[in-house]
Amino acid sequence: MGQQIETDSQVSLEAAQNNQSTLIAVSVRGVSKTFVSSRKIVEALHPVDLEVATGEFVCFLGPSGCGKSTLLNIIAGLEEASDGTVWANGKEVKGPGTDRILLFQEAALFPWLDVQHNVEFGLQQMGTPKRKRKEIAQRFIELVHLKGFERSYIHELSGGMRQRAAIARALAIDPQILLMDEPFGALDALTRDRLHIEVESIWSQTRKTILFVTHNVREAVALGDRVIVFASRPGRIVGEFKIDLPRPRNLEDHNLVDKAAEILQVLKAGILEREEDLRGAIH
Ligand code: ADP
Ligand code: MG
Repeated sequence: MGQQIETDSQVSLEAAQNNQSTLIAVSVRGVSKTFVSSRKIVEALHPVDLEVATGEFVCFLGPSGCGKSTLLNIIAGLEEASDGTVWANGKEVKGPGTDRILLFQEAALFPWLDVQHNVEFGLQQMGTPKRKRKEIAQRFIELVHLKGFERSYIHELSGGMRQRAAIARALAIDPQILLMDEPFGALDALTRDRLHIEVESIWSQTRKTILFVTHNVREAVALGDRVIVFASRPGRIVGEFKIDLPRPRNLEDHNLVDKAAEILQVLKAGILEREEDLRGAIH
């Protein structure tokens, strides 16, 4: 009997180990970053350890300057860590890859192309045949509710529509991981609310892994399965919250507001600590 139990648990452990690379989308191991210039040294990130499961929606929350973008850029392979390693989809990150796409506050779309051709752009680079390209682009244009705007140029779109076009363009090349750096920071509150609903619905339809950076507590609680709180100088993780509120979530829901208040305490403690350090340095 005892033998049987041992064998079973060994089997399940092996299965778990074999599956590990597919279950974990991103693994950040002891990643730190120090920027050195002739004038100063900035410890942008104190060593960070973090794992994100495949299909998980994780929000990085923190005040400006706490290393959120630095960490996202390192995961994207656009910035090199001073120390530590990042693994994405079971491979060590050595540079950018089509499995991880970064979206910014300012949608980086090509102004000389219309929406359709912007969305097709990455596919064209990958050598996807024209018919297939059109078909895929159409699917994602519909998914982000831009149907009817295929022939519009970027300057003809509102800020929210531009972000939707950028999301469609990113999704078209079928990355496993979407890295979003304050993508709705420049939008008005109403547009942002609508895009929250859309991103959540896109996420639930495509089951991508999403790492979403924000300094907005309610945005983080509205979107994340998990919220990771950062503090600055040096940039580091000071808290982690699992959000198991039912979806779709409403920003006014009292459970969401309560959770946001709880997280805000941790966020404020990180900021106060920093101010006290500064005061200590001044006196
Ligand atoms: P966040 O995205 O949380 O606002 P960042 O990751 O952009 O923060 O920056 C973290 C810290 O690193 C800040 O103090 C910032 O000034 C510094 N920093 C970021 N990029 C550079 C760089 N290229 N050179 C020097 N310092 C930088
Ligand atoms: Mg930033």
